[in-house]
Amino acid sequence: MKRGFYIGRFQPYHNGHQTVLQRIAQEADEIIIGVGSAQLSHTIENPFTSGERVLMITRALASLGCPFYVIPIEDIQRNALWAAHVRSMTPPFDLCYSSNPLVVRLFREAGVKVQSPAMYERDRHSGTEIRRRMLAGEQWEELVPPAVVKVIREIDGVKRLCQIAQDDH
Ligand code: ATP
Ligand code: MG
Repeated sequence: MKRGFYIGRFQPYHNGHQTVLQRIAQEADEIIIGVGSAQLSHTIENPFTSGERVLMITRALASLGCPFYVIPIEDIQRNALWAAHVRSMTPPFDLCYSSNPLVVRLFREAGVKVQSPAMYERDRHSGTEIRRRMLAGEQWEELVPPAVVKVIREIDGVKRLCQIAQDDH
């Protein structure tokens, strides 16, 4: 049984993440998706709660054709212990897929095999760009799966982001 692990903050989950996971699904038997910085929400960098992010991912991957688990993972402020913290919260896995240099380093030091998937149109498909477009009132919907558009509408996510970006005078 080959179980792969993929982690992100998913603020929000977008087509770059979706493309990578569809590729992973072709070679893994099961996928574990870690929702990082799970404790954060209602900030400009991290507008959505971990539960909302779980909903986005679960709905967007409904027809993935590979079993997957979505698991919120809170930050611990100790990088040296982070890989063990992740493993304490997830089903066992053989391989981590990540291009984040710190994640790669921490897992390799902990003896976990890591593969770095190729980026998918990274200039447009990034959480930072999507949040920028939401704040600027520009089109962002084309950059995320339709199921994610629906979740963000349901929770009135763009209005939340715009409101928390205002100051109090
Ligand atoms: P932010 O700009 O908020 O950091 P992000 O787009 O980098 O958002 P994350 O949740 O930080 O999204 O990333 C989760 C994982 O997805 C990271 O390993 C990141 O390198 C990867 N990733 C992000 N964008 C893409 C993309 N366009 N194609 C492939 N992988 C991506
Ligand atoms: Mg990132």
